[in-house]
This record gives sequence, structure tokens and C-alpha cells, in this order.
Amino acid sequence: MLVNGLKLSLEGTGMVTLENVNRVYRMGDHKIHALKNVSLSLETGKLVVVLGPSGSGKTTLLNVLGAIDKCDGRITAGDLEITKLKKHQLTKYRREKCGFIFQFFNLLPVYNALENVEYAIELSSRMSRKKVTDQATEYLRRVGLYDKRYHFPSQLSGGEQQRVAAARAMAKNPELLLCDEPTGELSVKEGKQVLEIIQNMVKERKDVLTLLVTHNQKIAQIGDIVIRLRSGEVDSIEEQTPISAEQLSW
Ligand code: ADP
Ligand code: MG
Repeated sequence: MLVNGLKLSLEGTGMVTLENVNRVYRMGDHKIHALKNVSLSLETGKLVVVLGPSGSGKTTLLNVLGAIDKCDGRITAGDLEITKLKKHQLTKYRREKCGFIFQFFNLLPVYNALENVEYAIELSSRMSRKKVTDQATEYLRRVGLYDKRYHFPSQLSGGEQQRVAAARAMAKNPELLLCDEPTGELSVKEGKQVLEIIQNMVKERKDVLTLLVTHNQKIAQIGDIVIRLRSGEVDSIEEQTPISAEQLSW
């Protein structure tokens, strides 16, 4: 795959690496060190949970990986050095390679569910109109929302909106799936549905690296790997045998 002449394929090398990644926010004279010397090597096909209390740098970590935010240090994804890309290349990388699921869904309110998913596909690929609609419809079917595909976000529950957001993130076939507290606004029942969707995608797509941010230790049980962040630093990295999202309660 090419990003403005630069190759990006996580298949093959299957790795995303961070080397001495730092992110400092300056607020006048005040400095906030949101990420401190973070070095990680992450394999595709895994569900990586990033666990930490509020303010520990979880969102910042996802944002620098998804090129929403900048940082010092080095980040590579497959053959591509993200931290060397120019602005227009970063836009292309973000659009084509990264799927995002945010805490507050962030659907476009004037588009219905189908249009929200179609729009993401259109931005990330050059497919015929019909193919875009077929693919968007297929992903909405997968998340159990075929019957509600013409509903607007305001006509959907929080859990349904988040399932549309999951369909939107997955339908563009991303290489990185970045989920920031995706159950934060949902009931346990709705949250589990969303986590099951994410976990199923991880099982199906071995070429995708999925990061799931949470402050909830229970939810961390579904990860293949758990990275604990504390005050912007990696506190520990543990591999574990995940439990299925179905078995969770919190
Ligand atoms: P988490 O997602 O774990 O709650 P964040 O990554 O959002 O943590 O924030 C880490 C730290 O960086 C916090 O102290 C937060 O206030 C600060 N921070 C995050 N984004 C910004 C920003 N854009 N400007 C200034 N400070 C920020
Ligand atoms: Mg956060």
C-alpha cells in the first residue's frame, strides 16, 4: 500500500513501534508531560488494552499513533515512519489506515447511519458508488443495524450510535483500530455489545493492530496484552489469556 509514494503495510512486518515518544503540552509557563519516554513494540492481530487512570496519557498515546497529535521520538508502522511524514501524508495515513472509535461516538448528525459509514469509506478509497453503499450496508449488518441504517444519530440509542461508529471505523479496512473509552458513555449491556464487535474484528483481521483505551480494570480482561500507563509512563506490559467480552460484567 502507498501513502503518497510511501509504502505502508503492516502485513509482513506486522509491527508498530514507538521509540522514546514524548509529548509535552505547554500552557504558558506550565508544562504537562503527557507521555514520557514511551517505547513499545506492538504486533498486529492483537487486542492491546491501554489501562490507566484519568490523566495518565491514554488519549495522548492513541492520538499520536493516529496522527491526530504530534510528538517527539519515533513511531513506525510497518515500513512507514509516521514521525517523518509531512502534513499531507499524515492526513492520508489517518484517513486510509486508521479507524477511530471515540467515547462520544462523533457521528455526523445530519447524515444517517448508512451515510456516516459511506462517508468514511469514500474518504479512504476510490470505490464505485455502488460498492461503497454495499460495503457500508454489509458492515452495518455485521453490527446488527441493517434495519436501522436509515436512522439519524438522534434516532439511535448511545449503544446503537457506537455500533455505527464501529462499523464506520472497520468498513474502511484500517491497519490500526484506535478505540478511546468506547464504552464510557454506555450501559454495561450496550458496552459489551461494542466490545464483542471489537473482539470479533480482532479475531478476523490478523493484519490489524487494535488498541483499546480504558480506565476500567474489568474491561482490560479482554485484551491479549495490557499496557498500564501512569503519569505518562509505561508502568507495565503484560500478556494474558483474554476472556471473551460476553463473559464481562462491570
Ligand atoms: P487520559 O486519556 O489518560 O485521561 P490524556 O492523554 O487526555 O489522559 O491527558 C494526559 C495529560 O495531558 C493530562 O494531564 C491532560 O490534562 C494533558 N493534556 C491532554 N491534552 C492536552 C492539550 N491539548 N493541552 C494541554 N494539556 C493536555
Ligand atoms: Mg482520555
